[in-house]
Amino acid sequence: MRCLLAGNWKMNGLRAALAEIRTLERGLAENGVAAEILVCPPATLISAVAKEAGDSPIVVGGQDCHAEASGAFTGDISAEMLKDAGASHVIVGHSERRQYHGETDAAVAAKVKAAQRAGLSAILCVGETETDRGAGRALAVVAAQLGGSIPETTRAHDLIVAYEPVWAIGTGRTPTVAQIAEVHASIRGVLVDRFGQEGKAIRILYGGSVKPANAAEILAVRDVGGALIGAASLKAADFLAIALAAPLQGRS
Ligand code: PEP
Repeated sequence: MRCLLAGNWKMNGLRAALAEIRTLERGLAENGVAAEILVCPPATLISAVAKEAGDSPIVVGGQDCHAEASGAFTGDISAEMLKDAGASHVIVGHSERRQYHGETDAAVAAKVKAAQRAGLSAILCVGETETDRGAGRALAVVAAQLGGSIPETTRAHDLIVAYEPVWAIGTGRTPTVAQIAEVHASIRGVLVDRFGQEGKAIRILYGGSVKPANAAEILAVRDVGGALIGAASLKAADFLAIALAAPLQGRS
C-alpha cells in the first residue's frame, strides 16, 4: 500500500499559491517520490490546482461537500461539483467542521455517502478532544465516531480514515508514537469488524502537527498509511520534506 500524504490548505491560498504546486511538482520529480500526494486547496482553487498538476503525481481534493447532489443550498458545494472541478478525494468530518459548523456523525455519514456517490474517495476524519483523552476515552470516542460516520452502504475501497486528535491540530503537539499506534490498531480493528478482509486495506492516515521533523517516526508507525497535513502542506519545501521522510514503499 503506497503512503498517502494529503495536504489540507484549509481557508488559505490565493492564485499566487499555484507557484507552490509548481515547486512541489518539480521537487517530487527530481527526488523520485512515489508516495501519493493529494492537495486539498480551498474550493476556489480546485480546478486551477488540477490543471497545474496535470499528469504529475499530485491529485486534488475538496475539504468538505454537501450531502445532496444539487439544490437550494446557498454557498454549499456538492461532491459532484468537486469531481467536475477535477477532485478525486474529499475530506469529510474534519474537526473544524464538527466544531464550527456543528456537524454530527449522522451529517458526516451523509457526506461520506455523497462522496462515494460522486466517485470520490472520502477521507473521514475522527479524533478525540484533550478532555476525552484525559478521561481515558480516546479509543471509545474514535470508535463511536467511526460507528456513526460510516454509512451502511459504504464501499471500503474508496474510504480512507484520518485519525486527527483535536488537541494536536495546529498546536505543534503530537501524541507519542505508542499512542498513535494504539489508536490506529483500534481503528483497524473497527474497520476489520465492519468490512472483513477489505478493512485491512483501508488506509488510516495520522493528522495533527505533522512536519518534516516528526514525519519519519510517525509514518513508520504500524497501521499509519500516510498523513493529513495542515500548516506544513502550505509550503512546497515542507510538504516535499515530509514526502521524502515517507517509508521506502513511498519512494520510487
Ligand atoms: C489538519 O488541519 O487536518 C491538520 C492536521 O493541521 P496541522 O497539520 O496544521 O496540525
